[in-house]
Amino acid sequence: MTSPFDAAALANRATSALRAYDPGHDLPALRLRFGAVIAELGSNENPLGPSPRAMRAATQVLQDIWRYPDPLGASLKRRLSESQGVPVNGITLGNGSHELLMLLAQCFADAEHPVVHSQFGFAVFPIAAAAAGAPSVAVPALPADHPEAPYGHDLEAIAKAVTADTRLVYLANPNNPTGTWFGDATLEAFLGKVPAQTLVVVDEAYHEYVDAEGLSTAARLLDRFPNLVVTRTFSKAYALAGLRIGYMLSHPSVAAVCERLRESFNVNTVALVAAEAALGDDEYLARVRETNRRDRAWLAEELLARGYRVLPSQTNFLLVDLGRDAASFEAHLFERGVIVRPMIGYRLPHTVRVSIGSRAELERLLENLP
Ligand SMILES: *Cc1c(COP(=O)(O)O)cnc(C)c1O
Repeated sequence: MTSPFDAAALANRATSALRAYDPGHDLPALRLRFGAVIAELGSNENPLGPSPRAMRAATQVLQDIWRYPDPLGASLKRRLSESQGVPVNGITLGNGSHELLMLLAQCFADAEHPVVHSQFGFAVFPIAAAAAGAPSVAVPALPADHPEAPYGHDLEAIAKAVTADTRLVYLANPNNPTGTWFGDATLEAFLGKVPAQTLVVVDEAYHEYVDAEGLSTAARLLDRFPNLVVTRTFSKAYALAGLRIGYMLSHPSVAAVCERLRESFNVNTVALVAAEAALGDDEYLARVRETNRRDRAWLAEELLARGYRVLPSQTNFLLVDLGRDAASFEAHLFERGVIVRPMIGYRLPHTVRVSIGSRAELERLLENLP
């Protein structure tokens, strides 16, 4: 008898090292079963939904979807160029910023050129390295009792882990899942230390939510450090997660290399148009920021009053450190229709991540705590 066919043994070396993404609970199935009664606090989505202008633009452009999208995304790039002060040829658009993070590793890292990231940095970083067949170095995070950034990026240690061969460093600021951040001075000192040939990627997925002093965008340093790359997304504060669109700001030569591998129509027509409209709605973004700031502070206080340890956050989520295994906590909430995200995949099994959902959702969480 011949052995049963199994393609797992045929996967190439890089893919053999990977596992499929764990999406958590089957949310579409749960929505069908329970409808709007579930509180979805697991995916850092913006409960206010997109700007009405983005919605209108998305709906109107549907009549054009029989055509391929603009492969250059020229109109959106011009708009971003104006708002970000970066030339159009220093902007790359992606099918979510996830795609851009992967693309960077595919273009620049390989078996001889490792990737460095922080221990509790965003999960995509080591995956991007592995997919490119590159070794990745996870630098130990700041200690759990660090006063400003528990479990956060230790930039001094990261700088020490970088060698002349390191091709990419991934930083997330603020970081997911910790919510922690590092300030402008820390980043500048770091960029002064790493080799000029090492690309430093600062993932700013939560940039629009930031309100701390001394924490501005890394993009202001692009002129001084051509090895700096900044990624952003429309999935979080702009609430366009379902459309899949993000962007990258870099030296034009970094963008030019990425263009070689970027799929020509990687960003769809609806996403391009909706993102551009969203950028034109400052009032909407101001409301998103203010609502998140208020509800984040409120939820942190409510959790604190109930004896929970909540980490400092500059994002639209809070990491709650239970000090004990989170599995039964998460299961208890799940049975009551409240979805939070256990962080066992990050080897933080004693924590859960809670998105700043609507007030109704957050109240439901508080009412149902074990
Ligand atoms: C959510 C998130 C992203 C990206 O999401 P996309 O939807 O792919 O743009 C990137 N980095 C971090 C740290 C995130 O939390």
